[in-house]
Amino acid sequence: MNASVREQFPILNQEVNGHPLVYLDSAATSQKPRAVLDAVRRYYELDNSNVHRGVHTLGSRATDAYEGAREKVAAFIGAAHPEEIVFNRGTTTGLNLVAASYGDANVNEGDEIVLTPIEHHSNLIPWQQLAKRKGAVLKYIEPNPDGTIDVEAAAKVITDKTKIVAIAYVSNVMGVVHPVKEIGALAHKHGAVIVVDGAQSTPHMKVDVQDLDCDFYALSGHKMCAPTGIGALYGKKALLENMEPVEFGGEMIDDVGLYESTWKDLPWRFEGGTPIIAGAVGLGAAIDFLNELGMDNVTEHEHRLATYAMNRIQEIDGLKVFGPQDRKVGIVTFNLDDVHPHDVATVLDSYGVAIRAGHHCCQPLMRWLEVSSTARASFYLYNNEQDIDRLIDALIRTKEYFGDAT
Ligand code: PMP
Repeated sequence: MNASVREQFPILNQEVNGHPLVYLDSAATSQKPRAVLDAVRRYYELDNSNVHRGVHTLGSRATDAYEGAREKVAAFIGAAHPEEIVFNRGTTTGLNLVAASYGDANVNEGDEIVLTPIEHHSNLIPWQQLAKRKGAVLKYIEPNPDGTIDVEAAAKVITDKTKIVAIAYVSNVMGVVHPVKEIGALAHKHGAVIVVDGAQSTPHMKVDVQDLDCDFYALSGHKMCAPTGIGALYGKKALLENMEPVEFGGEMIDDVGLYESTWKDLPWRFEGGTPIIAGAVGLGAAIDFLNELGMDNVTEHEHRLATYAMNRIQEIDGLKVFGPQDRKVGIVTFNLDDVHPHDVATVLDSYGVAIRAGHHCCQPLMRWLEVSSTARASFYLYNNEQDIDRLIDALIRTKEYFGDAT
């Protein structure tokens, strides 16, 4: 990834607290390239209209742009049909839809739902709530100490009682890629479906939902260079076709009577209300941008940065990194001696380095790691080795500062 890629992100060209900004919080949300910002502005300047109903020119342009974006998402993740892509607000919304619609219809008392203790809250609480509603049982695959997950561990908890297995493809804290294809095959052998949280995988690696043979796959646009407020849920057509909508109103109906109504075909029956049209346009532009760079190049770039960061960060005495040594995705989570992660992040910010501190929406994972919170630096296609050098320098200064203070 060369310097010209970085130059396409105007936000990175600024000073924060008197230092050039180093943005290392892309796992929380990514920055947006000019191509995406321009596409959204162009849409509002030229085409803005509601979709699927206008007979006027702007209406059909907006509809074409919206449906064109759906085709781009389908192709980007290897879906067989565009109607398998439901636009929504993001991963959280997608996972909640599966739990509320598929879950309510297919999970009964005594059935089992299999998760891992290292899931993001978005891939945990919807299943907790479903289990409570239906009297189902939650079971957890035990990860290895470094956060990796073995299929053998999954085999210990997935049984014929399992109805749903839900797991992140990539952990937002440990940066680990989980064997979702193999776990999915196991789930299918027992008659269960596999739901994949793709929030942290889609931005960073080539994804092929047909090769993974997953039943559902949720993603968030804002983590992959698109605007906030847009995401997508992939579901196998045969499953989506038999699912009930969970939001009712305009846009999703076929015929409405005073006492009964019927729904549109896939995927619109799951998109009640005016959709996030400009967001979808932005997501389509983000996908074009990523395709132009090449997802394999993005992965390789991040892997190189992650390896560099892992090597350099371990030069710092008293710094503990969570997760495996080798990681494909650019997420490095750590703690520095007894310094609270919020203090680490605050001092780093004073040097213009933006990282995240806290529980990263993974409280059970924090308990599993036996910490209350951690610091997390996450890299993306616009970061480079100098950003990591700045992080290391700022961490050394943080250590000196707190070392002197005690
Ligand atoms: N799952 C994972 C692994 C995530 O990292 C995130 C975002 N931090 C989510 C789910 C939720 O995504 P969103 O907030 O965009 O719905």
